[in-house]
Formats: sequence, structure tokens, C-alpha cells
Amino acid sequence: MSKEVIMDIHNHTNWSDGDSSIEELVVNALKNDIGILGISDHYNSKNTRSITSFEDYILEIEILKNKYLSKINILSGVEIPVSSILCQEYSLKLINNLDFVLVENIENLPLHFNLESLEGHLKNITCKKGLAHTNLYTIAAKYKDIGGINYFIQFMKKTICFLKSTLIQVIVFLMILFFTMKIIG
Ligand SMILES: [Zn+2]
Repeated sequence: MSKEVIMDIHNHTNWSDGDSSIEELVVNALKNDIGILGISDHYNSKNTRSITSFEDYILEIEILKNKYLSKINILSGVEIPVSSILCQEYSLKLINNLDFVLVENIENLPLHFNLESLEGHLKNITCKKGLAHTNLYTIAAKYKDIGGINYFIQFMKKTICFLKSTLIQVIVFLMILFFTMKIIG
């Protein structure tokens, strides 16, 4: 019988605004039976502490991946502000060596840009892509004239993005979807 694996891929360490080192997080994850641990420190953030040396950050994750190989699956990732994706303020070669990228606060995309303006940039990122700290209320309201939450879902399908969400966000998402369907129907 297959065993369920607990996965936690949104974690900030002292490489950005977290308090713990990557290894401290790994040890804590092992104590809590986490099977897959993603490290996703802030990169290119203007509002909080960010990774200063991308190469050293990746190197530390790789060393710990190998050290704990038999016990836990460690994934390398970063969280990038949506404005930084729009201006492509990163080396694609480095980014595409990661396991995943989280796009932070996609609702902060300036009003005169729609989600399509991100598509080309996201397609160039070949590792797994997800969204973090997403405000679904703001998105539904911001794009209400062009489909609201359904427009957002289509964008996620086109760019093969996953939504990193808490249970509350899932409930909000389903509620917005339900009411949108009722209005359309
Ligand atoms: Zn975060």
C-alpha cells in the first residue's frame, strides 16, 4: 500500500527573512514527518531580506540534499516578486537549475498589465512554477471585466502554474468560483 507523503514547499530561511538555517528547517521537517521539503527564499525582493549570493544558496541546498538523501527529498526554489518576473531581473540559466519558482503576490502586477504580459517570461522558466501569497479577492476584482477568477484559472492552465495555498485560500477560491458560476449561469 502506498504511504502518503507530506509536502511543504513554501519555506523561508535565514538566506532571506526566515530565522532558521536551511539545515535547521530540514531537521525540523524530519521531526514532523515531512517527506518533501522545498526551500523558497526571497529573491530580488525590494521589501524584505533577499538572497545575496544565488550560487552559494544553491550550493548549500545541494549539499544538504545529498546529506539527507535517504531521509527526505529537499527541493530548491526561490520566491520572486511579480515585478521582477515582468522585468526578468534574473539569469534564466540559474533559475532553470532550480526545482521550482514561486511568483509572489501576482495581484501586484500594475493595473495596465494583464496576466498575458507574464506568459512569455513564465514559459521561459522551465522548472515547476507556482504562485505564493496570492490574494484571490483582489485578482477576482481586478480582472472582473475580462472574466475575473475564470480568467485567472485559464492563465494558470496556460502557464502550467500551481497555486501554493493554505486551506483557507482553497475555501475562498472555491467560494469565488461558485459565486462567479452563479452570476454567469
Ligand atoms: Zn513567501
